[in-house]
Amino acid sequence: MKKTYDSAVIGAGIIGMAAAYNLSREGLKTAVIDKSYIGSGSTGRCISGIRQQFSTAASIGLMKDSVSLFSQMEDEFGFSIDFSKSGYLLMAHDEGLLNVFKSNIELQKKEGINVSLISPEEALSIVPGLNTDGLLGAAYCPDDGQAYPFSVLKGYKKKIDEKSGDFYLHNPVSGIEKKENFLLTLANGTLIEANKVLLSAGAWTREIGKKVGLDLPLYPERHEAVITERIPKIIEPMLVDYRKDGCYFQQLLTGQVIGCYTPDPNVPGIRTDSSCEFLLEMAQRMVRLVPELEKAAILRHWAGCYTMTPDGSPIVDQTEVENLYVASGMSGHGFMFGPGICKHLVTYMVENKWDVDFSEFSISRSFGSKESLK
Ligand SMILES: Cc1cc2nc3c(=O)[nH]c(=O)nc-3n(C[C@H](O)[C@H](O)[C@H](O)COP(=O)(O)OP(=O)(O)OC[C@H]3O[C@@H](n4cnc5c(N)ncnc54)[C@H](O)[C@@H]3O)c2cc1C
Repeated sequence: MKKTYDSAVIGAGIIGMAAAYNLSREGLKTAVIDKSYIGSGSTGRCISGIRQQFSTAASIGLMKDSVSLFSQMEDEFGFSIDFSKSGYLLMAHDEGLLNVFKSNIELQKKEGINVSLISPEEALSIVPGLNTDGLLGAAYCPDDGQAYPFSVLKGYKKKIDEKSGDFYLHNPVSGIEKKENFLLTLANGTLIEANKVLLSAGAWTREIGKKVGLDLPLYPERHEAVITERIPKIIEPMLVDYRKDGCYFQQLLTGQVIGCYTPDPNVPGIRTDSSCEFLLEMAQRMVRLVPELEKAAILRHWAGCYTMTPDGSPIVDQTEVENLYVASGMSGHGFMFGPGICKHLVTYMVENKWDVDFSEFSISRSFGSKESLK
């Protein structure tokens, strides 16, 4: 069986779904293909954080767009995505990081973000149970927040369905051929012909790119996460502790506390196995920061992938193969980046020119600088 589309999106995570939503809105008949179910990759494994506190104008600008898009979704989809401006509190326990916050805040304010450098006492007034031992200061943005990834995906699915987009799920792309158009072969033998193709397969993007001779600098790593049972509200913002043995966690609107830490050394590869070491370590780190959490029972833990690039920023661009695009390498930010990135990427796919400066995410950049707020 062969089906013909204007565009095909490989991967039904936040990036593929947000792209397909925008492509459909532009009037392109679109196919969304996934080797498993919608959200089965990293998107369904993330901890739902959305922040605008980044260190470059492009990332800050795109996150302003994303926050605005997240805030419109309830009206657009007709149901809640549990979006809340619950804030992000980034904590500095050393002078070096405090200075990084200071210069970032200057740029963020210039870009119109409601952010300020606050004292440990002010941090304590925002999170009364916070252990401020050793805390020198914090960067706080009350307009950062959270949303429920599965509701966002459900909303995009609803909108793509309304525009008669098609889904091919549990059906990996096993081959890509480029003639005048692209011809994608799916595992069950279906052939998808499309004029434009987006590689948005998260951690698997590099492996799929190889099918058309690309070697994209994308490096998956395992990241583990944990969630507690529901407890009364004790934490409003996402708390980000940047110490070497730090962690980050927030309380969901539904009461559970959800969080991660960045393993050191990193754990390379596409891995979703979870470890007892993480569970014990994470519990200690969370309780050190908010001692009251000692009373909260952990419900479960799991793992997913960050897809890294050499400089920690995504790759969002057309590849050297005409009409083949890539949006991957989202590190720990793909959920929050997705709506903003895909809005601009789809404009580029349709009009063949960028409506914003995304050179920082270009495939041909030097990869020499680093995002300072991982
Ligand atoms: C523990 C953890 C916590 C995180 N917390 C946050 C957070 O708070 N905020 C945030 O913004 N980000 C967070 N992230 C990062 C975020 O989850 C990712 O950046 C984002 O989900 C990437 O989305 P994606 O669409 O690129 O990839 P994915 O969601 O992984 O989607 C890729 C899809 O491609 C499909 N696929 C693979 N191979 C094929 C094939 N051959 N054919 C067809 N389909 C294929 C997969 O099945 C998958 O569904 C976190 C990640 C982890 C692991």
